[in-house]
Amino acid sequence: MQNISEILQSEFNKINAKFKTITITHLPELHTELLTWLHDGLISKKFYEQNYGQFIFHPPSTLPDASSVVIIGIPQKVTRIEFFYNNIRYETVIPPTYRFSQIRATCKEILTTVLGSKGYAVERAILPMKLLAVKSGLGKYGRNNICYVDGLGSYTRLETFYTNYSFPTDNWGEKQLMKACTSCTLCRQACPTHCIPDDRILIHADQCLTYFNENLEEFPASVPPDSHNALIGCMYCQTVCPQNKKHFTYEPVTITFTEEETTCLLENLPRENLPENLIKKLKNLDLFEDYLELPRNLRVLLNKQHNSS
Ligand code: SF4
Ligand code: SF4
Repeated sequence: MQNISEILQSEFNKINAKFKTITITHLPELHTELLTWLHDGLISKKFYEQNYGQFIFHPPSTLPDASSVVIIGIPQKVTRIEFFYNNIRYETVIPPTYRFSQIRATCKEILTTVLGSKGYAVERAILPMKLLAVKSGLGKYGRNNICYVDGLGSYTRLETFYTNYSFPTDNWGEKQLMKACTSCTLCRQACPTHCIPDDRILIHADQCLTYFNENLEEFPASVPPDSHNALIGCMYCQTVCPQNKKHFTYEPVTITFTEEETTCLLENLPRENLPENLIKKLKNLDLFEDYLELPRNLRVLLNKQHNSS
């Protein structure tokens, strides 16, 4: 008869996902690690507050007896999107990780079905998933600070959940850099903002294009205008990475934004004034919350393609 870990393994195998488990006793260590980065000046206060400020390093009140955290890595494809504007077709992408709803729901369903049938509960954990994944051994850091899940590359969505089941295995360990990175600098060479250093593992995250296009301020001069390559986020350091060669795939369907929808996006309309069909499309892409950044991001992409044609 299979134990709970084996049943979960076989269920996650069906969606090609991998998982590790840790005990919640390590959560203060996770928090301390992030605070150390801040205190050592490896990340700025602004970056810490914007990117790590939302994490909660203890179980929710709805699951006070949680004893384990499950961290899951699921392969995810690149989403291709097209915009029509002034009778011209523009194409761009949304990198893996931005679309989360469906994957999160699937993971929760698997965990709830397996653990629930044994009398245990499951709740989502709002934790620094990348750091947790590398500390649990689910993956390793690339030189680009992206988590490479063993056997799946970096095109993966991570999800974390609490449960009050105490897994027999505590996968906690030291974070590691991929071996392949010791003799490779391709991502550093490809990075348009030169934010991947050669003297430390942490990138200069507040110089990364992703940081800029996930924020509302105008792009600084350090971001070359022709570097924009996705509606949000940046793909350069992952697409050049040899460790991703066999994992790069697109979603089969390209999502289309009509002339009218593109025009609406570019107009910076308040969220509540967007047409229903556009709201639906953005929600489907899990980008409705990021809506405010999109007009500016789209504008620079259209300009780039227009200037190069
Ligand atoms: S491109 Fe090279 S250095 Fe960068 S993450 Fe991939 S293997 Fe590591
Ligand atoms: S996401 Fe883009 S800007 Fe950020 S490190 Fe990778 S290549 Fe550089």
